[in-house]
Amino acid sequence: MTNLPDEDDSDYPKCPNCGHIHICKHVALAVDLTFREILGGSLENDFYETRDHSSVKESGESVNYGEKFDKYIHQIRISGNFTEVNYSDNPGPGLSSAYATFYRK
Ligand SMILES: [Zn+2]
Repeated sequence: MTNLPDEDDSDYPKCPNCGHIHICKHVALAVDLTFREILGGSLENDFYETRDHSSVKESGESVNYGEKFDKYIHQIRISGNFTEVNYSDNPGPGLSSAYATFYRK
């Protein structure tokens, strides 16, 4: 599953550590903040594994998913271990998403 923007998207952030565009070894988590989607990163599995097992696993959708997503992002932000880079795309009116990529410091 790849929802990442195109390689040549100049709006996409570069890694503050190695200058890489897209997922590099420093990316802890890349997310779509608008749709609360995990796009990639080394913490992706951690996020899913720590999800409440009473929630629906297969569809990726549950009543508590959004709440868990917000809490997880909040924990990453307050941990101080990551550099957050925000960006957005503009495919059309009302369609833009806000993204955040968390790089390991
Ligand atoms: Zn990097």
